[in-house]
Amino acid sequence: MATNFRLPGPTPLPPAVVAALQREMIPHRGPAFQALYRSILARAKEIHRTDGDVLIWPASGSAGWEVAIANLLSPGDPVLATIIGDFGARFASVAEAFGLDVRRLECPWGSALTPEMLRAALERHPEVKAVLLTHNETSTGVTNPLRDLAAVVRDHGALVVVDAVSSAAGLPLLMDEWDLDFVLSGSQKAWMCPPGLLITAVGPRGWDAYARSRFPKFFWDLRAARDAALKGMTPTTPPLSLLYAFDAALEMILDEGVEQVWRRHHELGERTRQGIRALGLQLFGDEANASDTVTAFVPPPGISAQAIVRRLEQDHGVFVAGGQAHLADVIVRIGHMGWVTAEDIDHCLTALGAVLETLGARETAVAGQ
Ligand code: PLP
Repeated sequence: MATNFRLPGPTPLPPAVVAALQREMIPHRGPAFQALYRSILARAKEIHRTDGDVLIWPASGSAGWEVAIANLLSPGDPVLATIIGDFGARFASVAEAFGLDVRRLECPWGSALTPEMLRAALERHPEVKAVLLTHNETSTGVTNPLRDLAAVVRDHGALVVVDAVSSAAGLPLLMDEWDLDFVLSGSQKAWMCPPGLLITAVGPRGWDAYARSRFPKFFWDLRAARDAALKGMTPTTPPLSLLYAFDAALEMILDEGVEQVWRRHHELGERTRQGIRALGLQLFGDEANASDTVTAFVPPPGISAQAIVRRLEQDHGVFVAGGQAHLADVIVRIGHMGWVTAEDIDHCLTALGAVLETLGARETAVAGQ
């Protein structure tokens, strides 16, 4: 049975994750929890490909922007916020809300940031202490060349702070090899869990920066979280049910093999893009950097993105998303991250073909070719 839930997050829950959510509570200061949390952190580190610290919080992904800023920086610090879509723009706004001195490097939405652009921006702003990067821009379906971008930042010396909300556990992300200082993600994407867990990973330079940071912190204090984690605990009451779910999802990811998970996402991305082209539709954005976790396309002339989204839901029970901000009615986004198979993608594309016919677009698109 194909799943119909093709939002770019939240994503469908595998049966093992749903079953884990039914489990009864355990004492959160007892040995069973300590064993569970230690095992979760060790496996999450493996998936991030890091020997650094992974720490988990009851929150959605957006809180990760605050965790990064409040723990690694100080009021007035100059930072470079790179923006290739709506989520990069939000990260920049959070930095401004915290009183950082934000230099914005904006690319047209639909394109990726290039190492050359980043190098030039760092030459213009050598004073920045951190570069804020979005690994996979969910709002446009574009993946940044993170490894190359991180290398440019390394040459400069600033911290590499990465929003990996829609890439972690889906796209290759090698925290130590790529020398990333801070990585944040959310449970409701490729991690195959319900919304509600924020996953953060901190490297050695991140901890050096923590020691210099002058922002007040309590709930989001990284060191408090690390001190508790050393004892297999969390500073506050942990979200037990979500951690049970995360535990089950980690087991699935490692059973499949992290590299196989990355390969599967790449194949699903290719399959989705081929299907979109075969329907006579135009992919949105720079195809060389097309994301393997979310595909965005432009509806045929005269058909609104929202009409396609509505028809897919009403006529076929298939859920996809429109765009965000000024792209709200300009693009349609299909999520293919986490618990997804080729059959799920084919099912979605078949429904999309039928919707285009209903809306009278298929002929228009083919005639216009
Ligand atoms: N960053 C990216 C790239 C995202 O895709 C999202 C959500 O979709 C967020 C940040 C914000 O995460 P949340 O909605 O879980 O707060």
